[in-house]
Amino acid sequence: MERFSIIKGDIVKAKTDAIVNAANTSLLGGGGVDGAIHRAAGRELLEECETLGGCKTGEAKITHGYKLKAKYVIHTPGPIWRGGKWDEEELLANCYRNSLALAKENGIKTISFPSISTGVYRFPVHLAAEIAVREIMNYLRENPDMEQVTMVCFDDDTKAAYVEALAAYQQA
Ligand code: ADP
Repeated sequence: MERFSIIKGDIVKAKTDAIVNAANTSLLGGGGVDGAIHRAAGRELLEECETLGGCKTGEAKITHGYKLKAKYVIHTPGPIWRGGKWDEEELLANCYRNSLALAKENGIKTISFPSISTGVYRFPVHLAAEIAVREIMNYLRENPDMEQVTMVCFDDDTKAAYVEALAAYQQA
């Protein structure tokens, strides 16, 4: 489906209506993609996040994008991988579902995702890619108003995992 694309790049530079932040539950910033987004968006993003009272794993909250090109940031804390028996798969699926639902509520037509949970949170990237591709493709099928979903992968191995997961999804 052309409405879904997988690219290598820096999500901070994305020009989509919204970008998704692989946040932590405090929503007060962290390392990885979270730190990069906060640095690029500026202090006002942190100030808005401070009013939100955190966010549970798998849920999502929206803020403005401030200095980013994206108008909105959707913050979703992914699960920390603890071996796979602690609902990690369902919680990761919830990140994608709840982020997309929030995008819809806010009239967002184009959105970029990072590879949620596969950095410091150590979720196995092939399994994460399978879940992300399934949730995004199911959402696109049911929501013709969403024009473009982009997976912005930071490195070649991550991109390869998502490309492979998409091919597997399309063959199934
Ligand atoms: P988590 O805590 O959810 O694992 P991380 O930020 O540690 O989040 O990593 C999630 C993914 O985001 C990793 O693949 C990491 O390489 C990637 N990443 C880091 N910085 C950026 C960026 N600027 N743009 C896109 N992806 C990024």
